[in-house]
Amino acid sequence: MLDLKAQDRRCRRKIRRGFKRVIRSVDFINGKEVGLFQQRLAKYLGVKHVIACGSGTDAIQISLMALDLVPGDEVIVPAFTFVAAAEAVRLLGLKPVFVDIDINTFNIDPASVERAITDRTRAIVPVHLFGQCADMTSIMEIAAKYRLFVIEDACQALGSDYIIREGTGQLQMGPFTYDYRCTDHGIRKKAGTIGHIGCTSFFPSKSLGAYGDGGAVFTNNDELADRIRKIACHGAGKRYIHQYVGVNSRLDTLQAVVLNAKLPFVEKHSAKRSRIAAFYDKEFVSCMQLKVPSRAPHSTHIFHQYCLLCRSERERNALQFHLESWGIPTRVYYPLPLHLQQAFAGLGYRKGDFPVAENVAKRIMAIPIHPTLKRRQMRYISKGILSFFD
Ligand SMILES: *Cc1c(COP(=O)(O)O)cnc(C)c1O
Repeated sequence: MLDLKAQDRRCRRKIRRGFKRVIRSVDFINGKEVGLFQQRLAKYLGVKHVIACGSGTDAIQISLMALDLVPGDEVIVPAFTFVAAAEAVRLLGLKPVFVDIDINTFNIDPASVERAITDRTRAIVPVHLFGQCADMTSIMEIAAKYRLFVIEDACQALGSDYIIREGTGQLQMGPFTYDYRCTDHGIRKKAGTIGHIGCTSFFPSKSLGAYGDGGAVFTNNDELADRIRKIACHGAGKRYIHQYVGVNSRLDTLQAVVLNAKLPFVEKHSAKRSRIAAFYDKEFVSCMQLKVPSRAPHSTHIFHQYCLLCRSERERNALQFHLESWGIPTRVYYPLPLHLQQAFAGLGYRKGDFPVAENVAKRIMAIPIHPTLKRRQMRYISKGILSFFD
């Protein structure tokens, strides 16, 4: 599914030199490369604050902790995504409230969000799944209407652009002013910089991958940034003076070396994946048995994954089996929606609660897409898939 070895051949010398420097300086925690990376990523994203931390999951947890929520408060998360956001919500004693997704983009469905709001709702976590932004204009309008926080899970969408539609409102909440201007029609903002807080992951397979775990939180709000920075470091501003109950979640200096070396390639890699996606689209668009990924008008797509939709679960499984014999790897992201997972059984959800999520989980299938995929491999993959329907 991914060729990590080929991917960073270009940066490897730079990384080795960086590692040597860090080892010599023994500056393993909060070394100067970490500060440098935070600055560079902030500049790339056009966001005021980037706070690096230990993983994407930590980034979401720390963001939730910064909102001062109390047990029983509800946080809306999509039923069809990676488990991290729902897990963090639950770990903090908050209540994950699942909502359905849009059949075309696989992203959170704003109408379902609005239906799920109660007087205990405090936050929404839209996930920009597979590299394409959720409908943030609608989400931000709902957030403004009901005074909710928005934490974007941009773990799969680092670098993808949200294209702002016209809308209304500016949002002020307690000590936080939020300068989202829905009137910025046509203006582009990077995924994760639209809501109050954005999160990303540097897990090796993500569009900017470290040599281990890593993550980051973004925000334009100074007060939230200050809290997040402290919470990630045991709730302390000054050493041994603890303002909040926090966690220990940091990006290693060695990982920052890797990320500094790889950051300049993010755009190029995304462009390469987009070209591969365009090739696949052309190959499969006339195949009646498959649905190629939809492109939302409000977002660019960095194609963290290229997911086809089959007609049925049986056909999907048979196609996977067929491709296995061709030596073509496929994956199902994600085979079981979160509301049906045993881990969340206590919440009282049932089969049938989120028909779109359940349906998509049965029919979806990801095929290889990565910046070092060769033309010849792309053609082979396409041939393998189309031969199944012949
Ligand atoms: C990868 C991922 C995460 C978690 O990131 P880690 O760094 O692995 O903790 C969270 N949400 C989504 C959508 C992801 O894809």
